[in-house]
Amino acid sequence: MEKPNFRTEMLRTLEGKTPAQISVGTFTTAPVLELMDLSGAVRPEADSQPEKMALLAFSQYVNASFETLRYPFDMVVLGEALGCVVDPGTKARTPAVLKGPMEFSPAVPELPEDLLERGRIPVVLKATEILREKAGSKLPLIVGMEGPADLAASLCGTTRFLKWTINKPHIVKRLVELCTDACIIYARECLKRGADVVVIADAVSSPDMISPDSFRTLIKPDMSRIPKALGGGKSVLHICGAADPIIADMTECGFDGLSLEEGIKDLKKAVETTHEAGTAVIGSVSTSSTLFRGRPEDVKREAFECLRMGVDVLAPGCGLAPETPLRNLKALVEARNEFCGRNR
Ligand SMILES: [Zn+2]
Repeated sequence: MEKPNFRTEMLRTLEGKTPAQISVGTFTTAPVLELMDLSGAVRPEADSQPEKMALLAFSQYVNASFETLRYPFDMVVLGEALGCVVDPGTKARTPAVLKGPMEFSPAVPELPEDLLERGRIPVVLKATEILREKAGSKLPLIVGMEGPADLAASLCGTTRFLKWTINKPHIVKRLVELCTDACIIYARECLKRGADVVVIADAVSSPDMISPDSFRTLIKPDMSRIPKALGGGKSVLHICGAADPIIADMTECGFDGLSLEEGIKDLKKAVETTHEAGTAVIGSVSTSSTLFRGRPEDVKREAFECLRMGVDVLAPGCGLAPETPLRNLKALVEARNEFCGRNR
């Protein structure tokens, strides 16, 4: 049988059509050490040099047989561009925000006119062009970025952001609006340069962090602006943890897919709710326990469970730990092959 076109299959899936087979890959960060060693693209260079970033992303396909090219490998690119002080990390440590600009000066910042020239945004944009060239029309380019609430929390400090959702909602609203604008400007440019799908990852929006009511009133209205602003480009929303109480709200934001993790209490119900809205589900094999610590047979068992529940793309539930063994990523692909073979 001819190899399916992974890009076409993924786009069909996100359009709500039935693909020839279920895709397997990642929509969350995948800075896996073994992939760095095999590709020769090691962090922190793979976070700051476009050629290295593209090489490490491409190794997800070459060395793990994933059907996605997901990049960059950290969640602080926009924060850094908006003035956060960032620890660049090491080979095994992901870049992280140390301090946000509002922790030095409390005013909500303005959106800089030269946003797309700031920090590592030009690196991601250049990596997009390199990957598009390299992948042609065969593989989907999945670019990830921090969502409005994550970015807002980076700018003012997470503890303060969480407190403000309760006692200063007017500041949260302004901040989230600004951060949404930043996401839209950056996402549109990524799509223009050749990306196929934008993943908005917003851990702070999780019911584990803020109440579902706060999500509905303070985040959802702005979050809903993102998919509409992308001019037909595909978009996926990733929210960590037990997102069950806000699944319907997440679908109402209008994304083409939801990326859900193992923290979801009732995956079957979450899949049903998402499918009723015509939205695809991506996930949800546990990154922290199964993919990181488990054996390939554990990965397969959990992958079969996700496939039986009806996920549309088999993927890690959240960002992969750098020490995740490559054999476990390959086990995901094997699980999909076995499952689809059996159900053909
Ligand atoms: Zn997550």
